[in-house]
Amino acid sequence: MSDDATPKTKSPLAGLNLTFLEPAEGAQTAPAAPPRQTSGTSVDAHVVIVGSGPAGLTAAIYAARANLQPVVIGGIVGGGQLMITSDVENYPGFPDGVQGPELMGFFRAQAERFGARIVDADVDRVELGSRPFRLWAEGVEYRAQAVIVATGAEAIWLGIESETRLRGRGVSACATCDGFFFRDKEIAVVGGGDSALEEALYLTRFASKVHLIHRRDAFRGSKIMQDRAATHPKVELHLNRTIEEVLGADHVEALRLGKTDEPGEERLAIQGLFVAIGHRPNVAVFRDWLEMDEKGYLRNDGATTASNIDGVFVAGDVDDHRYRQAVTAAGEGCRAAIDAERWLEAREAEAEKTEAGAVTVR
Ligand code: NAP
Repeated sequence: MSDDATPKTKSPLAGLNLTFLEPAEGAQTAPAAPPRQTSGTSVDAHVVIVGSGPAGLTAAIYAARANLQPVVIGGIVGGGQLMITSDVENYPGFPDGVQGPELMGFFRAQAERFGARIVDADVDRVELGSRPFRLWAEGVEYRAQAVIVATGAEAIWLGIESETRLRGRGVSACATCDGFFFRDKEIAVVGGGDSALEEALYLTRFASKVHLIHRRDAFRGSKIMQDRAATHPKVELHLNRTIEEVLGADHVEALRLGKTDEPGEERLAIQGLFVAIGHRPNVAVFRDWLEMDEKGYLRNDGATTASNIDGVFVAGDVDDHRYRQAVTAAGEGCRAAIDAERWLEAREAEAEKTEAGAVTVR
């Protein structure tokens, strides 16, 4: 579809210069279903969803279509990790690929079309000890019967200026998402844990050569993965090396490496850099309430998305250090909305039964 031929509306994503497709002709328009405003600074909702990545917005679509009028507290910088991803070629339904921000714009428009209200604010504090659950964001109190936590996880970056500048131009933190773009190219992976070893091996499917750069002389990852990387004909290890700078004007051309075992620097010509030095789940405000695993990710019960608190559900990358894909997050967001809907229904049925019992006694 050419830009000229496509009707556009203003970007609903605050602060981002994006355009979005108009709904198709005859499509259902968003019902005016704002949550009940109980005072100037508080909002009551059946369901509050925290996070506006694929998990949060899929939960919003399902909850809105179940007539739960969800409120999504989506974060000041909403949309999750796809907002910093350029081409997405593995999300089903887009045979020609789609840009990450554009895909998240579609998610958002679809949730809003069914009445989800999305607030571009960060949650500062929560109280999950009793119902209604209470959450605060930018001075507004949200009271919810059920909460879905879909705050995602962030890749940890090296933190150097050239890495930020060339992100999406050869610098990536997701081999599964972007490896395909480096067919027959020479690339580097930085990190010494299982993620780096796994990504380096995975990338050998595409790249002509993978340079694995680690700052120490020993890897942290499992022995078997170390052995596989060390013996793979396409993998070259660079131990005791740090990345001082990613070189290239508008795409990655080389790395300037520092040495930790001897003086001096070296230049390594590559066309892509995969940063694999870990992920950090966004759990800060939930830390005191929700159970986490040994890696700091939130736990749900696995068979469902239920957390350790009745009525609070957990979905997406915030509980998943294994798959970390937009499509798996979206799938779990769907499950969380269905779990929340059933949970609310069961509570309502219980309340009705109790009420009926009270009448009989009288
Ligand atoms: P990790 O185990 O925390 O390893 C991070 C690596 O990055 C470390 O080697 C660390 O170096 C290096 N690093 C950290 N900050 C750096 C910096 N600023 N500059 C350069 N290097 C830096 O993280 P992970 O590899 O993502 O693994 C996380 C967890 O998931 C682990 O428990 C891992 O076993 C698990 N995992 C398992 C699998 C699997 O079983 N298939 C796959 C992926 C991950 P140092 O070693 O010097 O600290």
